[in-house]
Amino acid sequence: MSFLSYLRVETGRIFRSRIFWLAAVLTLCAPIAGYLFYFPATLNHESSIGLWIANPALAGTFGGTVLFALLTLYELDRVYRKEMASLTDTIVSTLMLSSSRTLSLLLAAAAAVVCAAVLYLPYTLYRTGALWDGGYYLFAYLGLMLPTVWSGILLAAALYQFTRRVELSAVLLTALVLLSMSQYVSDQFLLRWINPLVPWCSDYFGNLRVIQTGLYSRLLWLLLSASLWLLSLPAIRKYGYGLGRSFLKGCRKIYLPFTAFVLIGCGFGMYLCQPFINHSQMEYASFSSHPMSTEPKLTIDEVEITCKPNVMTGTQQGTATYKIFNLEKEDVVETFIMNCGYTIDKVTANGETIPYTDLNNDLNFEKQIEVTIPPGYVTLVMEYSGMPQVWNGLRGSLTGTVFSPEFISLEMCDFYPYHSFIEHGKLELTLPEKLIPISNWVDIEVNLISENTDGTRTWELEPPRGGYFGNLYAAEYIALETETENISAVFYCPKKQQAAMEEVNIQQILADVLEYCSAHYGTPPFAEEGKLRLIEAGIPAMMGGYAVDQTSIMSENTFYEKIYTASAETANSPEIMIHEIVHQWWGLGKNLYDDNTASNGWSSEGLTTYTTYRIIKEKYGEEYAKEHCVDVWQSQADYLKNNFYFRYPEYLDRLPEQYAARVRGSVDSIMMYSVVPLKILKAEKLVGGEEKMDEILKGLFTNQNLNPITYADFLDACGLTEEALELD
Ligand SMILES: [Zn+2]
Repeated sequence: MSFLSYLRVETGRIFRSRIFWLAAVLTLCAPIAGYLFYFPATLNHESSIGLWIANPALAGTFGGTVLFALLTLYELDRVYRKEMASLTDTIVSTLMLSSSRTLSLLLAAAAAVVCAAVLYLPYTLYRTGALWDGGYYLFAYLGLMLPTVWSGILLAAALYQFTRRVELSAVLLTALVLLSMSQYVSDQFLLRWINPLVPWCSDYFGNLRVIQTGLYSRLLWLLLSASLWLLSLPAIRKYGYGLGRSFLKGCRKIYLPFTAFVLIGCGFGMYLCQPFINHSQMEYASFSSHPMSTEPKLTIDEVEITCKPNVMTGTQQGTATYKIFNLEKEDVVETFIMNCGYTIDKVTANGETIPYTDLNNDLNFEKQIEVTIPPGYVTLVMEYSGMPQVWNGLRGSLTGTVFSPEFISLEMCDFYPYHSFIEHGKLELTLPEKLIPISNWVDIEVNLISENTDGTRTWELEPPRGGYFGNLYAAEYIALETETENISAVFYCPKKQQAAMEEVNIQQILADVLEYCSAHYGTPPFAEEGKLRLIEAGIPAMMGGYAVDQTSIMSENTFYEKIYTASAETANSPEIMIHEIVHQWWGLGKNLYDDNTASNGWSSEGLTTYTTYRIIKEKYGEEYAKEHCVDVWQSQADYLKNNFYFRYPEYLDRLPEQYAARVRGSVDSIMMYSVVPLKILKAEKLVGGEEKMDEILKGLFTNQNLNPITYADFLDACGLTEEALELD
């Protein structure tokens, strides 16, 4: 009998077995958990794609994998349980029997997953409506669920063939599942074999990075589980031999261990060379720890850059041409910094290829490149390419610079090999025609210079600050204008979101916040010169938001439509959006800072957080504000008070780097975002209520002599002492 005949017989048998149908029906039910209680893809950001596609598919992935792994153990053990082994062993090759049995299970699993994808399609179409994304749906079921279920079957079969004991295999399998679910690997997309890392889903800005990392990790686990399975084939017991003897005898079929080791090698290669996350330390290092030469021995008059992102692969290709005058009479080694995911393809000076060294010393988002520059006037050309990498400290959120068909975000070192002593810079960027680029700096104009025949357009940026290009966001943006008595604002959001935004009257919400702040504290400096710009950035770039001169940048997760109903049950809330607008007053209008900020937490975040709470209170009521602001601050402050490392910081240095970084970061942010707002709230009560506090704050905001406003200034204005504001 040939292998195909065995396979046909085995597959027919599987499809007739009741236990298979039980596993298949339960697998079909598993996605329901993603509607009811299993929400891994919407922990950080609620989105339609996350709620209606990713969560159910991830629930199906987990459930289906467990069920089919158990089915595999049952099926493989059946032969021995019924003491058929001694009989069948004599008739057919164990190898052929076992492989056809496993392969038939893989086929059965594929049928179950395809059925699940078809079964949930109508409901998903109905729930996602205009936000339906067919590509993502296929990815979720066929790109995540199917390969994970396959890995589960192969792992289970391998464990059984090694141990030949159901209970022991089940225990080992459970250990693997627990490891994948544990917090130690929660931020490492490659190690989560049964619960793929999907930290967010974007409705409006594409999901390229999550799709790429998802497929990459699935392929890795298919390779590893397949290699383990191949390696277990020689271990199948024969002729009553034990594990060792069977294995040695089985290994005479040299192609089995050979193929297994090749696959293991490929898997480890994929693990070590993954192109998505850089190798920086996890704690953010201040910029100075990646020193650029402090006194350049040369001047760089000009840089001209052409960037051509490939949005389908998420990579880019660029050329940077520098006009340099090397003052020395000899070669000078100069350092440039660039994104860790890029490689330099070629460097020439006046047309001649010259040496360079990629130091590969990843720190934060960038690494250093050393270039040896000859004396005199030099036209230096650097060609570079690659996929921008996520900073290791953000590996759990997979956010950062991204090139995708729906959205592009570019940060400073992601444009080109950067040098801080460039006099003048000019950049040409070619993008798909529907993407409209906007710089986060209001004074960096982005001009369209050509419409190309290949469906792209070329844009030009000429920043006023040398070679510094700030951050750039490109999407299918539209502009929504908001007008208030003192301030006007323009809000850039994706076209796909326009209807949803108009339905919730986003312009009114923005106007309310702008009105509140200008009425309570005065108008910010930019109000006379122009408009406040609000840019919505996709969650592939970042979560949360930040503000720079005259511009507030907020991530997509700030604008989930459900937030505007502001009911207590919703996961997202309007706080971040309001917070980032308020920063135009506290932070940009007036900076808050003093020499003790590191220890007392006094920063612009405190007053911004407090003002956000006041707006929330006015808009959504006292109860909502208490629950979403004050109670949250209090629980954070209580957590800090009970935190061992906060009370004994000297022990922090003894912790592993990754853990210490997390603790330090969370202590700082609790001080700034929770403890200081609680102190301001306490001050509000002591000075005689909200109105009195508003007067004091207006006084601070409009006092020309104060910038930055220190904690002592604040205490003086309140007539309070530091001790009076200590929390109990
Ligand atoms: Zn802030």
